Amino acid sequence: MEDFLERFLDWRGIETPCKRCSGAGSYGYGNTATWHYDIGGSMITWGICDLCWGSGDHTRPWPNLKVLEDELGALRKFKNKVEKRESKEADPTSNI
Ligand SMILES: [Zn+2]
Repeated sequence: MEDFLERFLDWRGIETPCKRCSGAGSYGYGNTATWHYDIGGSMITWGICDLCWGSGDHTRPWPNLKVLEDELGALRKFKNKVEKRESKEADPTSNI
């Protein structure tokens, strides 16, 4: 079994296995919210590891999905503002 784990880590190119998922890249969360901020139900749910973000390597994490999700939310808000402004400019009589 140890030989299998070593081969698995080697196959994934992992030098320092993640302390949370041991190199798997996914992790059994204690609720259904997994890595999201939401309130989750009381079920073990598998999701992407929120320590290495799927890389499985402690020293080389993949992009942090929480940060990306926050930035995407900010971009969506900005896009809505721009679109509202543009539609106002196109039709100054409309009252949005
Ligand atoms: Zn991990």
